[in-house]
Amino acid sequence: MTTETIQIGKREEHAEEIKHLKPAVDPATLSHRDLLGGDFWRKIPAYKDVDGTTFLDHKFQMRNTITRVDKLLSAVQDLVPESFYEDVADGFRRSPMSVRVSPYLLSLIDWDNPYEDPLRKQFIPVGSKLLPDHPKLTLDSLGEQEDAPTPGLTHRYRDKALFLTLDTCPVYCRFCTRSYAVGIDTEDVEKVSLKAKGNRWEQAFQYISERPELEDIVISGGDAYNLRAAQIRLIGETLLNMPNIRRIRFATKGPAVMPQKLLTDHDWVRELTWVAEHGRKLHKEVVVHTHFNHPNEITEITRNAMNTLYERGIIIRNQSVLQRGVNDTVREMRELVRRLSYCNVQPYYVYAHDLVSGVEDLRTTIQTGMDIEKRVRGDVAGFNTPTFVCDAPGGGGKRQIHSFEHYDRSTGISVYTSPAVKGGFFLYFDPVDTLDEENQARWANPQERQPMVDSALEQARANMKDAARASSIDTSDADGPVH
Ligand SMILES: *Cc1c(COP(=O)(O)O)cnc(C)c1O
Ligand code: SF4
Repeated sequence: MTTETIQIGKREEHAEEIKHLKPAVDPATLSHRDLLGGDFWRKIPAYKDVDGTTFLDHKFQMRNTITRVDKLLSAVQDLVPESFYEDVADGFRRSPMSVRVSPYLLSLIDWDNPYEDPLRKQFIPVGSKLLPDHPKLTLDSLGEQEDAPTPGLTHRYRDKALFLTLDTCPVYCRFCTRSYAVGIDTEDVEKVSLKAKGNRWEQAFQYISERPELEDIVISGGDAYNLRAAQIRLIGETLLNMPNIRRIRFATKGPAVMPQKLLTDHDWVRELTWVAEHGRKLHKEVVVHTHFNHPNEITEITRNAMNTLYERGIIIRNQSVLQRGVNDTVREMRELVRRLSYCNVQPYYVYAHDLVSGVEDLRTTIQTGMDIEKRVRGDVAGFNTPTFVCDAPGGGGKRQIHSFEHYDRSTGISVYTSPAVKGGFFLYFDPVDTLDEENQARWANPQERQPMVDSALEQARANMKDAARASSIDTSDADGPVH
């Protein structure tokens, strides 16, 4: 008898003794492992003759991004009816945000049902679905410019800062929080990214080096994908060599919308890897933060791209935005979280949709966020469970979605405080069309708006008084910014 048979024999014996307390899961619940592969792009008329090598080339993806409605028409051709193009043309005209879609994303949209498709909803506006903005909406709702000591550097939290290095992205998302800055120039990405350098970066570097409390820098944009390889290295090396800096993150939506770059832009991956290794030698953390919103964005190509980074020891975390009709169901959010975990991407945050112009159809209520959070937590490992947050309008920073002082579900007003960041109250507003008729009518009347806000604030103050009575901590010197 060989050792192998003995082991098999033992295992069989053992197997009889094991008592399964629960039935094994239905294989259908493991669908997060079924990643789309093959040449799925060939069903798009414009790409029907495109071979795998070409489609995997990031230069092909960049060159063929779609920025105009006529280009969309020439790519998708007769997959959708004429009326749909008219609706898209209307959507393009009325959207404040530039449009830019990669061939990869375009190929992942279900053109048999474009109105319902979760990717179409995020990137291609249709006029017929647009809703009026919330009356309380302002551009730069997060107040990023207010907290910027030098242009493009937001220093809001004590030990970390957000460095907007450039203003372009590989694609443009309808729902971009930074529509105040991003996507102005849609024609020549390289030129703009060069323009982004120079004196503005010098000023940011100088400020960061002069602030001993800063340990953590988010390198964003726009999108770090559009930084050239040499710029990745320049920024990474400069920051890591500052004694105060302990952690940097490159923030990019790229892996979600153009994973090809990680497979074929060898210079870029090499320089990113160099920065990560340089950081490791200095005992400093270098990670990538990305932005997947829907399980359909994750394919075999994505997994290969994520493996490329993982093999190089680079940790990838994900930040999603909760969006109506995209990922606002338990089923879709669980699938997203499982699929990301499966590809070694750690789900980090799910944001309540910021108050951004032109995308009211994509926002959900705070209640929806809480309901989904409750049903996602516990499904996978804790470190792969995203924290659901609301980035408090007005510069309060990210707050756990359920940590409001008061939430009036009928007017849709939630009131947050942010004791470690900034004094005062921060208000978030549910989309008006989700409220009942009476409250919709109140928002329609300008005279009614302030009383609704005042009443929510009053209730928040009363709740806080009750909470303080019950609390044992001394907050006398712990409230207000810790700068
Ligand atoms: C989100 C954000 C950060 C990073 O915050 P984390 O909670 O650590 O991810 C830093 N600065 C600004 C202005 C931000 O918006
Ligand atoms: S990739 Fe990020 S910064 Fe660029 S448009 Fe999308 S959300 Fe905005």
